[in-house]
Amino acid sequence: DSVFAAVVQAPEDPILGVTVAYNKDPSPVKVNLGVGAYRTEEGKPLVLNVVRRAEQLLVNDRSRVKEYLPITGLADFNKLSAKLIFGSDSPAIRENRVTTAQCLSGTGSLRVGAEFLAKHYHERTIYIPSPTWGNHTKVFALAGLSVKTYRYYDPATRGLNFQGLLEDLASAPSGAIVLLHACAHNPTGVDPTLDQWEQIRQLMRSKGLLPFFDSAYQGFASGSLDADAQSVRMFVADGGECLAAQSYAKNMGLYGERVGALSIVCRSADVAVKVESQLKLVIRPMYSNPPIHGASIVATILKDSDMYNEWTIELKAMADRIISMRHQLFDALRTRGTPGDWSHIIKQIGMFTFTGLNKEQVAFMTKEYHIYMTSDGRISMAGLSSRTVPHLVEAIHAAVT
Ligand code: PMP
Repeated sequence: DSVFAAVVQAPEDPILGVTVAYNKDPSPVKVNLGVGAYRTEEGKPLVLNVVRRAEQLLVNDRSRVKEYLPITGLADFNKLSAKLIFGSDSPAIRENRVTTAQCLSGTGSLRVGAEFLAKHYHERTIYIPSPTWGNHTKVFALAGLSVKTYRYYDPATRGLNFQGLLEDLASAPSGAIVLLHACAHNPTGVDPTLDQWEQIRQLMRSKGLLPFFDSAYQGFASGSLDADAQSVRMFVADGGECLAAQSYAKNMGLYGERVGALSIVCRSADVAVKVESQLKLVIRPMYSNPPIHGASIVATILKDSDMYNEWTIELKAMADRIISMRHQLFDALRTRGTPGDWSHIIKQIGMFTFTGLNKEQVAFMTKEYHIYMTSDGRISMAGLSSRTVPHLVEAIHAAVT
């Protein structure tokens, strides 16, 4: 008998499991709206042209070797990543108060940040929005933080529960960590306005709450890298401290390359140096050092103004296609006369629409229409195309009537 005979079968990951089920379905009309990855109008994955160009340069450069990177990754990549999120003129960067470590995409950056906080920060409680990306709870809890939630989404308005959010943060213990989605909140697509961000900032600073930004969609939400980083920059501008986890999965389409960064903004350069030394101690026993290829692609693009511009154009095109899908879906539901107010489809921001469809309706759409999505009713707008909108509309119509 196996020494592992007592191991029980674990359930599929609630998000990645959607694609597993989709792949098993032989239906020719099946649509996968569960996947959090960009698809072209033809439903195909996209490698950005500028990424191909950068890879070509890297491959042709015979001086490049496959040596280990330092524990904190590629230095150029780290500097450029900090500038990308905090702004090229950020005083915090100029004053050397930011330490950045290349990590394994957004997830790895969150995990390294969480492990650091669990070890070196005095308050081990982190508040995450309700709802949030399903992996947050596990990443933070397994790092040793105590996870609590703050109210975020209001199902009645399909918008922000701003009052609830303020109340919950106001009653959090002083010093608590607060996870904030920098933009394009996943799964709701609901973001605070700039005015609301400012109120959140004031409240958090007055209570000494520590902001931990998750930035998985910079540039992907609005099409503008600067606009999508405004929340983060607002908090850095006041001179206070914060953490930021960046992912290049969506905005450069580098999903499988696992390239991202954790930045910690500190009060002084002196503190930043010490923090970095401890980050190395967190990373070394975890995976020693990060992979070289993806970070080299990003650094190549970010440091060349021509390639950088090409990237922003391709990024805007992805964002625009997603926004256009929102309008197509909304218009088609109206034309079909599907009961309900579907305006949240065009109000929400980023890759996902939180449709408001319940678990039973989602199960019905999967069974009868071969449409796959997470059971919370979240659909990926990036997985939708003009060709598949009519089928989705029929399914939604049948599910709600
Ligand atoms: N945070 C949020 C809110 C996300 O939606 C995602 C991607 N689904 C991530 C982090 C991390 O993704 P990755 O590790 O692929 O960068």
